[in-house]
Amino acid sequence: MRKIALAVHGGCGVMPEDGMSAEDWAEARRDLAEALRAGYAVLKAGGRAVDAVEAAVVVMEDSPHFNAGHGAALNENSIHELDASIMDGETLAAGAVSAARTIRNPVRAARALMEDGRAVFLTAAAADRFAEAKGLAVEPQSYFTTEKRRQALAAMKAHAAAGTEGTENEKHGTVGAVALDAAGHLAAATSTGGYTNKPDGRVGDSPVIGAGTYARDGVCAVSGTGKGEFFIRYVVGHEIASRIAYQGQDLSAAARGVVDGDLAPHEIGAGLVAVDAEGAVCAPYNTPGMFRGWVTSEGKAFVATHETIYEVAL
Ligand code: ASP
Repeated sequence: MRKIALAVHGGCGVMPEDGMSAEDWAEARRDLAEALRAGYAVLKAGGRAVDAVEAAVVVMEDSPHFNAGHGAALNENSIHELDASIMDGETLAAGAVSAARTIRNPVRAARALMEDGRAVFLTAAAADRFAEAKGLAVEPQSYFTTEKRRQALAAMKAHAAAGTEGTENEKHGTVGAVALDAAGHLAAATSTGGYTNKPDGRVGDSPVIGAGTYARDGVCAVSGTGKGEFFIRYVVGHEIASRIAYQGQDLSAAARGVVDGDLAPHEIGAGLVAVDAEGAVCAPYNTPGMFRGWVTSEGKAFVATHETIYEVAL
């Protein structure tokens, strides 16, 4: 069997280590490990990268610990508007939904749209209607809300009034996955509630193909997290792929170059996971931490939130 590889992130909106209890950190790591297991089971059975990234993202959308699906951020009107996308590196087919309000697992709607093939992007009520028509689970807004997100919105509104900065965790987060399957195909998927207190109708980078999500066979797959406006301006996913394809950089240098070079001067939180055509993975970030996990080509799995890396059973 050829190499398989998988990496996931639960966003770079991670607070300093003393900002959450040891139990909460352990729970978040447990959910990252579950996401890895879901994706890896697909790859190990000879399944497709695009199925693996969808399966991994669904687990993190269902977890309250990450800003996507259940536990998504609230916008300025206390509403959840959800963005997600998926891309198949083999065909360059992609699907994305933005500002959706009722879709339980937005990545599933993105996938259904990709399969449908009539459009790459669907937005707002039309995205919600599409998901429902495809038989996907829909939920009332209350399903997505957690106490932590309510508190984060109150904190961000207070910061806005006082002219102070919120913590990375109050501000944002996202979930994403990238994979290489045994047939040599790459895929990426990303899902988010965007940033806390975002403007009504704001669409971030996560559903923007080429910015927050990108996959192209023979090159790399990328899923980003951080202040989306800058990921859109620098077309981060495609930029990393271009540095590899046109400049011959390796994955890690290309990804680091974008995070530490292009994005750093803007003093924004930024991170990503990426995998290349040989199965190398990287997970650079510039915040105090990033929820992340990966499986090596030897089948060893690791999760981390800050510097300490924990091996987990698959
Ligand atoms: N990239 C997301 C957005 O801007 C937020 C994040 O990843 O923290 O919507």
